[in-house]
Amino acid sequence: MVSHMRTRTGLIQVYTGNGKGKTTAAIGLGIRAVGQGLRVHMIQFLKGGDNFPQYGEITLIERLPHFSVEQFGLPHFVDPKKISVEDQRIIDKGVKRARQVLTDGEYDLVILDEINVVLKIGLAKLPVVLKLLEQRKEGVEVVLTGRDALQELIDIADLVSNITEVKHPFTKGVPARKGIEF
Ligand code: ATP
Ligand code: MG
Repeated sequence: MVSHMRTRTGLIQVYTGNGKGKTTAAIGLGIRAVGQGLRVHMIQFLKGGDNFPQYGEITLIERLPHFSVEQFGLPHFVDPKKISVEDQRIIDKGVKRARQVLTDGEYDLVILDEINVVLKIGLAKLPVVLKLLEQRKEGVEVVLTGRDALQELIDIADLVSNITEVKHPFTKGVPARKGIEF
């Protein structure tokens, strides 16, 4: 049995705001953690459906030891006013998987990418997510990313970074660039 170094204290981090850098910050943290012998798992909501580009980071993470990723993406942008049964089903699967990953203690750092958006548009219920955070195994650090983090989540978090857009090339018409935006 391999003994793993554990984080002494597992805290809750939230990366939110409308500026660029939430997902990449979470992945950067994941790389730091792996470098110190921790095991990292990322559950990415909303992205990864057939119509989305393959994100560069996903391709790489799949080749890294002790850093894994699962996507629960939808093949289209979700219209919060028209949530389909399929949309709901895939998110429910992701939430269920998140609970498993947080409670079984197989990972030291768990990234729930875009979960803030999932909560904001009502695809997951806040009490459900709060409960699974509470149920997580001792020592598990969790990062929740996505713009528009709910206040209740901010209230219970130990660390909150708000990334504000000061400038983004998108506003002057520069399209998403391979290797930079995806
Ligand atoms: P990144 O994945 O680059 O760290 P992010 O996670 O902070 O960005 P998201 O809200 O997940 O940003 O945005 C999804 C996509 O939109 C990413 O490709 C991201 O680079 C890009 N993006 C982020 N912020 C902005 C913005 N203010 N305007 C336009 N596009 C943005
Ligand atoms: Mg993101």
